[in-house]
Amino acid sequence: MSQMYPAFSQSKKSKSNYELLEQLKQNSLNWYEVEHQGYRLPSTSNPHEWCGKWIWKGCLNVSGHAGTEANGKGFVRSFKRTCFRSICEECASSWISRESNKSASRLDHYEKITDEKSKHIILSPPVWVRDKPVSELKKEAYQILKNLNAKGGCMITHPFRERKQKLLDGTTKSYWYPSIHFHVVGYGWLNYSLVVENFRKSGWIVKDKGERESNYGTIRYILSHAGVKKGFHSLTWFGDLSYSKLSMPKYESEFLNCPYCSEKMKLIVNRDVSLGEPPPQQMECIIDVLEWFIPEYPQFLR
Ligand SMILES: [Zn+2]
Ligand SMILES: [Zn+2]
Repeated sequence: MSQMYPAFSQSKKSKSNYELLEQLKQNSLNWYEVEHQGYRLPSTSNPHEWCGKWIWKGCLNVSGHAGTEANGKGFVRSFKRTCFRSICEECASSWISRESNKSASRLDHYEKITDEKSKHIILSPPVWVRDKPVSELKKEAYQILKNLNAKGGCMITHPFRERKQKLLDGTTKSYWYPSIHFHVVGYGWLNYSLVVENFRKSGWIVKDKGERESNYGTIRYILSHAGVKKGFHSLTWFGDLSYSKLSMPKYESEFLNCPYCSEKMKLIVNRDVSLGEPPPQQMECIIDVLEWFIPEYPQFLR
């Protein structure tokens, strides 16, 4: 293969979502065990056999590459396969990345149109209703948001809170226990007297954590210890930001397309089987098309 180079230079501003999750798990006493009405913390179930495996995707559209740097050549880029399941030990961090990106672009888009700034709100039900079904509490939370003049946003269920516990060896670990509450990143509100009145009437505590620096950072942090359950969305939209009210410009990841001809890249295999899987890193390379083939087409047709 001709010279291969990493697709990105590794610039690191903050912890990756994978590192964030690993650290949370390591610092917890019961990350895998805590459960409430079928909800668990992310990343506690076995991956599929193919989760996290690296594959090549590429483009052999030589005629489309005429006049570019890849003149007469093909192009390949390596990808890590992911199931994007929040419960998957291997892929939960990809779920966080994708959800945070999607949600942040929705919030950012709304801010562009309305010139508003998002707030982070936490709604906690009174102790005596905490064993109600999560779906019912969610409805109550939505009603309270409405009463407090929230315009819309996203809501994330947190069935658990953490208690820091100092161990005999001097380290501090988190113990997670069921204590349901809801995080909201959204717009509108919060009139202090309405919040007080709401507390008197319902017993729900509504806390304003204030305006956010970055929607992406806020969402990824909230999702890292959100409640996840098969068949239930961990993050839902309401009010002006619901799917029926706010449509987003269609977005397609250009990353999946060939940089020279914009065609969608396909799973591609090198004829030399001794090469094996790609190295575990994002790589890309201009290639000799005779050395590669796309397995979904029979060879004699190409
Ligand atoms: Zn997976
Ligand atoms: Zn191409």
